[in-house]
Amino acid sequence: MGEHRQGELFPSDETPWELDAQSITPVAHVVFPEAPFGPYSYRIPEELAGKLMPSMRVVVPLGKGDREITGYVFGVETAEHRPQALKSILRCCDEEALCSAQLIELVRWMSQYYLVPAGQVMEAVIPAGVRAGAGTRNQLLLRPTEIASDDAFLATLPPKQRQTLQQLILADEPLSGEQLRNLAQCSDGVIKKLRETGFIEAFTERVMAYEGDGKKGEVEGGMPPALTTDQRVALQTIFSALDSSEHSTILLHGVTGSGKTEVYMQAIERTIQFGKQTIVLVPEISLTPQTRSRFENRFRSVAVLHSNMSGPERNFQWRRIASGDVQVVVGPRSAIFAPVPQLGLVILDEEHEGSFKQDKIPRYHARDVAIHRTFLEKVPLVLGSATPSLETYYRAKTGKYKLVSLPRRILNRPMPEVRTIDLRVNRIDVNRSSLSQPLVQAMKKVLSEEDGQIILLLNRRGFSTRVQCPSCGLVLECPDCDLPLTFHRDGNKAMCHYCDYTISAPQQCPKCTHSGIRYSGLGTQRLELEVQAMFPDATLSRMDSDTMRKPGSHERTLADFRAGRTKILLGTQMIAKGLDFPNVLLVGVIQADTTLHFPDFRAGEKTFQLVTQVAGRTGRGERAGEVLVQTFSPEHPAIIAACQHDFLGYAAVELENRKPFGYPPFGYLARVIFRGEQQQDVEQFAESFVTRARGLVQKLGCKARVLGPSLPPIPKLRGSYRYHAMFLSDQPGALHSILQQLQANTKLPEGVLYLIDIDPIDML
Ligand code: ADP
Ligand code: ZN
Repeated sequence: MGEHRQGELFPSDETPWELDAQSITPVAHVVFPEAPFGPYSYRIPEELAGKLMPSMRVVVPLGKGDREITGYVFGVETAEHRPQALKSILRCCDEEALCSAQLIELVRWMSQYYLVPAGQVMEAVIPAGVRAGAGTRNQLLLRPTEIASDDAFLATLPPKQRQTLQQLILADEPLSGEQLRNLAQCSDGVIKKLRETGFIEAFTERVMAYEGDGKKGEVEGGMPPALTTDQRVALQTIFSALDSSEHSTILLHGVTGSGKTEVYMQAIERTIQFGKQTIVLVPEISLTPQTRSRFENRFRSVAVLHSNMSGPERNFQWRRIASGDVQVVVGPRSAIFAPVPQLGLVILDEEHEGSFKQDKIPRYHARDVAIHRTFLEKVPLVLGSATPSLETYYRAKTGKYKLVSLPRRILNRPMPEVRTIDLRVNRIDVNRSSLSQPLVQAMKKVLSEEDGQIILLLNRRGFSTRVQCPSCGLVLECPDCDLPLTFHRDGNKAMCHYCDYTISAPQQCPKCTHSGIRYSGLGTQRLELEVQAMFPDATLSRMDSDTMRKPGSHERTLADFRAGRTKILLGTQMIAKGLDFPNVLLVGVIQADTTLHFPDFRAGEKTFQLVTQVAGRTGRGERAGEVLVQTFSPEHPAIIAACQHDFLGYAAVELENRKPFGYPPFGYLARVIFRGEQQQDVEQFAESFVTRARGLVQKLGCKARVLGPSLPPIPKLRGSYRYHAMFLSDQPGALHSILQQLQANTKLPEGVLYLIDIDPIDML
C-alpha cells in the first residue's frame, strides 16, 4: 500500500499538522529501518492530529496481512486526494520529537547523497540509548485540580488536608508523592483522601533516572595566552564568519604545535557569547583525558561523547544537549548529530583523519555531513589540520573555502629535524632486529644522557605478521579471508586481523608436520620485546588495539607517559595523533613503508600524513626534538616531503599525480562492492551490474567512467567472495543519477549482495 513519490516528499516545516478543515486529511510519511523502507503515506488518526512531529516513531499496519511495524514519521502534510485509500497510523511511541526539523533535513540529505534509506539514516542519527529511553523511568506525579483553586472549597477541608494541598499549590510544579509528603509533613493517607475527593490528580511522566556522573564544570580561571600574530589573523577570519550569520568553511592549516586548539577555544568563547553552542569533532583516538580537560577547564558546560558510552549515559547527554544546557559538545564523528538547539559553530580537528568516515551503513563522512549541517543552519565550519586531505586543501586553494595558515610553532620553536635511515644501506637482519644502529644510538643518547622520552611508531600489531613452514612453504591463512594470519605472543595464538578468526599457534606445520615453524614480519609485540631486551632499564609501554581493549587503559598508559613513569611509548598509529608531551626528544618510525605500497591511490598521502603527524610529537617543549624514519624508499616523494615538513610541496606533486586519472579532488568517486558465498555468482552479478551501468552512462549522456568489475585487494572476507567496481566522474550528481537508477532496478540473485560506498576512503 502507500505511495512512493520520492521527489515531493518530506515537507520540512516544524509545526505539527493542524486539522483545520473536514475535507482534507492529515497524512504522515513514514520510513522504516528495514525493508520495505518506504516512505509510505498513512492517515493520521484524529487523536494524534496536531501532535505528530517528524522523527517520532509510530506503529503502522504494513502489507496484505497488516503486519504491525514501527517506523519514523518523516513528514506530515495534508492531502486532498483519496484519503480513504490510506491506512491509518495505529499509535505513536514518542511523546516528543526525537530530533529537530533541521536534523530531519540533514537525514534527508544523507539519505539522498549516500543512497541509503532514510529509516536507516535515522537509526544512525538517533542513538539506540535515546530511542530506548535508556535510564528513564515512569514517575507518578501529583498536581492540584481546578476545584483546588476555589478558596471556598478549600476552606471546607480538614486542616491537615488543606495544608497539604496548599503546599502543592505553592510548589508551582507537579511533585512526586514522596516530595509532597516531605514538604507537607503528611502521611500517605492524607494525599489519598485528597485524590479521592478530586482536589489532587495524578499522572505519569517519563523522567531521567540516570543523573550523569555528577561532575559539574569547575572552570579553571587564568587568562588565555596572548595570541601570536598568526593566531590573531586566523581568529579574526573565524570571527567575521561568526558575525556574518552565513555558512562558510574555513581551513585552518597549522603545523603541529602551532596553537590551533587555542584558536578553537577563543572561537568557542565568542560563540558562547552569542548564546549558541559549538560542536567539536575529533578522531576517537584523540578523545584523551588531555583533550577533555583542555575543554573542561575552559568552559562551564562541556559534554564529551565517545563510542563506548552506556545507553543511559548517552541518553542523559543527548537530553542535556537538547535542553541547551551544554555549551560545547566534544566527540567523534557521530557527535555531528548532537541535538544542540542553537548551533553556532562546528570545528572538525584533524580533518584528514580516515576515522571520520563511517565504515558501515550509512557510510557517511563526518566532514561532509558537517558541511551540510552548517550550511543548513547558516553557521561557519572550521576544519583544522597540519596535513589537510587533498580534497579539502584543493577546495581551499581554489577559493571554495577560506584558508588561514599557522606556519610556525608557538614561541617559534623549531620543527623537529627529520632524518631518513635507508634500510637498504643500514641493512638490518629483519628477522633478528628491527632497530638500525643510528636509531639505537639516538635512543641511548636520549635515555642515558638527556633523560628524555621516546616514541616509536610501528603500524602493525601482533608479534609477527607471517607464520610460515620453512620446509613445505605453507603460510598459515584465514580460511574465511585467505589472508595470512598474524601471530600473537599473548595467548600463543594466530589471528586474522580482518575477521578475528583465531587458532592456537601450531607447534608443527599442519601440512607436513615439520616442527620449526618460522615467524616473520614485524609487529608491535615483537618490537616491544626487542626494545626491552636492548634497554632493560628503560620503562616501556605498548599502545595498540590489543593492549587498549580494557576501558581506561588508554588513559592510564598516557598518564604514565606524561608523568615520566614510562620512558618509551611504542605503538601503532594510535600514538601518532594529537599528543602533546614536551619531554619527547626522539621519535622513531620503524618502517615508514608499511602503508606506502598499498593498492590505494591515497597510499602516499596516508603515509605522508602518518609520518608528519608522528614527527610532530617531538620538540614540543623547550628542548629540540629529532625524528628518525627507517625506510626502504627514502626517495619516495611522500617520505621526502614528510621529512621536510613540506605539506605544500607534497600537495602540489600529489595533485599533479591525480589529475590525469580524475581521482578526487578532481572528480567524484564511488565504489560498489559485490559479495556472496559463490564466487561465480558474485562475478556474474558484478558483470551484469557494470554492463547496465555502462548502458546508463550512454543513455543519460553523462561523463562518467566505470572501472571493473575486478578483484579488490582483499578478494575474500569473512567467507564471502568479493568484487568491486569504481565509478568516476567530474560532473557533480552524475554518479548519483546512475547509481540511483541502478539501485531502483536491481534484482538481487540469491546469495549475492552489493553495497555502494560514496566517496570511499577504504579501497581494500
Ligand atoms: P596544535 O593544536 O596546533 O597542535 P596547540 O593548540 O596544542 O597546538 O598548542 C601547542 C602548545 O602551545 C600548547 O601547549 C598550548 O597551550 C600552547 N599555546 C598555544 N597558543 C599559545 C600562545 N599564543 N602563547 C603561548 N602558548 C601557546
Ligand atoms: Zn579472516
